[in-house]
Parts: sequence; structure tokens; C-alpha cells
Amino acid sequence: MEKKNVLKKPSIDEMTAFCKRKGFIVRSGEIYGGLAGFWDYLFLGSELKNNLKNAWWQFHVRERDDIEGIDGAIITHPDVWKASGHVDSFSDVFVVCKSFKKPGKVDKSELGKVKCECGGEYDSSSAKEFKLMFKTEVGLKDYGYLRPETAQLIFANFKAVFDGARMKLPCGIAQMGKAFRNEIAPRNFIFRCREFEQMEIEYFIKPKEKCPYDIPNVEVLVLASGETKEKKMSLKEAHKKKIIKKDWHAYWLGQELSFFKSLGANLDNFRIRQHDREELAHYSSDCWDLEYNFPFGWKELQGIADRSDYDLKQHQKFSKTKMEVLDEETKERFIPEVICEPSLGVERALLVFLYEAYNEREKENIVLNFNPKLSPVKVGVFPLIKKEEFENIGLSIFHNLRKKWNVVYDKSGSIGRRYARQDEIGTPYCITIDGDSVDSGTVTIRNRDTTLQKKIKIEKLEETLGKLLYGEFTFESLK
Ligand code: ATP
Repeated sequence: MEKKNVLKKPSIDEMTAFCKRKGFIVRSGEIYGGLAGFWDYLFLGSELKNNLKNAWWQFHVRERDDIEGIDGAIITHPDVWKASGHVDSFSDVFVVCKSFKKPGKVDKSELGKVKCECGGEYDSSSAKEFKLMFKTEVGLKDYGYLRPETAQLIFANFKAVFDGARMKLPCGIAQMGKAFRNEIAPRNFIFRCREFEQMEIEYFIKPKEKCPYDIPNVEVLVLASGETKEKKMSLKEAHKKKIIKKDWHAYWLGQELSFFKSLGANLDNFRIRQHDREELAHYSSDCWDLEYNFPFGWKELQGIADRSDYDLKQHQKFSKTKMEVLDEETKERFIPEVICEPSLGVERALLVFLYEAYNEREKENIVLNFNPKLSPVKVGVFPLIKKEEFENIGLSIFHNLRKKWNVVYDKSGSIGRRYARQDEIGTPYCITIDGDSVDSGTVTIRNRDTTLQKKIKIEKLEETLGKLLYGEFTFESLK
């Protein structure tokens, strides 16, 4: 992604307004005043979100031999959440800031230690526990919970997937989809919602099994537990110095950073932060968060926890279904451990890619320099002027290309205005039909990031665009 004339990044309110204006995301029920924590993805937002989810699934499931995917129910059996501990203890603490009487939330471990975003102290006498799961009726007399995470469905289906797909440890099960939390204070646009999506993996190993994969060669800011300032280092170095204690954690942090990098993110805006002792769940020995430098500060993008065999044991106990697998060498049965649970919110990742892509060119033109894989519209097709011959060629190209990609056809306004409209929504390539198209069968193809233009034969267009969109060659190398 080429960065040009980067001015200041928009505040979160400016980004919210931009996304509404361009047709990405609006408050759900906007015409009735909106409902806090719920958002609707419009014609561009829904494409962008699907592209992001597809890229995640491709990277984490399809391109790996050791991970299978599932898609579980949203309203779930209450016993799943009793076994996991959510019914008893999935809650935050509701607090009120002394300065502006603004309500907020803190984790139980943060009570008395953290301040409000405005810098004010929380009033400890206002603190009360707040349960986060949405409960709903099922039929006449039953009830269920809207899942607050996708992970537990992975555990509950562990045996069916492990045996059915004939998996071998080490291996993982992935799921992406909706999750619901009755957040006390949804804010910062789509950063904290009540309805959101997660992309999660539970990665299982035999206890003490070493990581057979190389730690990816990635440099990042590292904030170790107890430190106040982050240090830039490679993940290999952080592991060698025992800052990242487990090889598996270094490997998965590297995988996740590589995923963001593969879609054009600048890793200078990311850091990894180790949880302090008191933040750790009782069954977890180490946990790292991947954080991003949002305009409202460094915030959690993704948790990478070690969950041990806690969840499978709990589901075995509550359901009386054996969760054990056979050790081929010793012929003994054991419960696998989750060494890593990379858990990423779709909305937070989407916000990262919006910030990474957002740039301003001269004359206040906004350009979204999305990686083409993420771009909601892949190609714009324009007849240079309103002329029947140009329009016929344009429409035939448009109808052909849209069988493969989301493509727009635009014949209104000056050509400069039409380019600018596509730049603003991140369309990587625009095709213009002119006199040469009629005379010699060529069209002009324009690159969003450099504004460079080249002539290309119409019969080569589809193949060339395919290669450009999927990074098989660069625009500059185009003959
Ligand atoms: P936070 O401390 O920000 O509330 P969390 O630690 O409770 O997050 P997890 O339970 O670890 O979050 O969930 C895993 C991921 O799911 C988070 O890293 C985040 O990307 C996403 N996520 C969690 N809650 C929300 C939410 N309310 N809105 C959007 N995404 C969320």
C-alpha cells in the first residue's frame, strides 16, 4: 500500500462520519435515533467486512493443513455457558467517573487501579457487577443465551471435529461469526459494540509439545509485564530472552502480525502487551494482547491466551462426554491443552484497516489505500464521454468483469470526479473507454495508489486485473 501525502489521521468521530457519508457503516435503527452498540453495514461496509472475513479464513483455515473450521449456532444451550463459567462470572464492573458522572466499565482485575479515559477517578462506591450475556426465550418454556464468544462452540464440538476430520495434534479449530455482549459503555464507533463478530482459533497440543514451526521473522514493539515502555525487537529475540516464554506464543503472535502485514498494515502501529499476573485467568500461565495505536490510544485488537485443558475438562465434566484423545505412542488417553487462543474481533480489525488505508491527497481528496483484496469495489468502468460507442464497450466490459468481482459502472460527471469518487472508497483500478477502444481495442487502466495510467488490450483486461488484484504482478511491471 503506497502512502501519499499523509496528513493527520481522522479522529474516531470523523471516521464515524466518513463511514456514514460514504455508505460503509451507520448506527442500526438510525432513522429512529440509533441503538447504542449496534451498527448496520451498508453497500460498501458489507463488502469490506466479507472481504476481511474471507481473507482471515483463507489465511488461517484453507491454507493450513492443521486447522478445520466450524459455524455454530448463535443462540446456545445454557449448559454450554454453565460449563464454561460464563453464567456465573462473565461480568464487568459498572463504575461512574467522578469528574463528569460518565458511566464506564472496568474488568474486575482493574478495579481501583485504572482511571476514566478523561483522566478522572472512578467513584468506588458506584461500583457494581454487571452480567454481560444476553438471555432469550426458546419456545414456550426453554431459554438460551446469545453466545458472548465463538470459542465455547469449538470446545463443545471438539470431539466431533477432531474425530470426524481425522485430525492429529498439534491442530486447531476455527470459527468466525456473531457474538453478543451487553456492554455497559459501548463507544468509539465499532471498537466496542454489543453485537459484533469474532474470528477465533483454539489451538490444541499434547501437554508440553514443542512448536514445530519457525517463529515468523517479524519485528514489533514489545511491552512486557511490569514494564512501562515498549521496546522494538524481533519475536525470535523476545522468545530467546524469555520475555515471550512459550515458543507457541511467539509463533502465533508472528502469524497474527503476518496476517495484518499481508493485507498491507504497517506493523509500526502495532505492539504486543503481556498480561500482568493479576489480569490472568486462574488456568492461564501467560497471555499476550495484540494492540493497535488507535486515535483514542493503544487498545486491544486481539487476545492470544493460553487456556490449558480447562475448557475441555469443564465440558467433559458437565456433559459427561469424553473429550480425551489417544496418544499413538503410549496408547494412553488424555485431554489436549489449548496452548493458544488467537481471538480477533472483526470490527476492531476492520477499524484498523480503515485507519491504515485512510490518506488525504492534495485538495482534500481522501484516498483509501486498501489492499485490493479488501477493497469493497475492485474496478470502476467509465466511458470517457457519453457516446453510444464508448458506452457499449464499457457496458460489455462491466457485465463481463462483474461475474468475478464487485465492479461499478459510472458515466456521470467529469473523469477526474469519477476517479476521485472511487479513490475515496478504495477502488484499486479504474478502466476508461475512449476513441482508442473503438479504433484499436485498448482501454486505459489507472492505478489508485500512484494515479499512473497505462493502455491495455481489452482481451487481456480480465486476466491482467486478476493478477493485479491478487498481487501476482505490480502495475509498474505492466507492459
Ligand atoms: P475488552 O477488554 O476490550 O472488553 P476482552 O478482553 O473482553 O476485550 P475477549 O473476550 O478477549 O475481549 O474477546 C476477544 C476479542 O473479541 C477482542 O480482542 C476484541 O477484538 C473482540 N471483542 C471483544 N469484545 C468486543 C466488543 N464489545 N466489541 C467489539 N469487539 C469485541
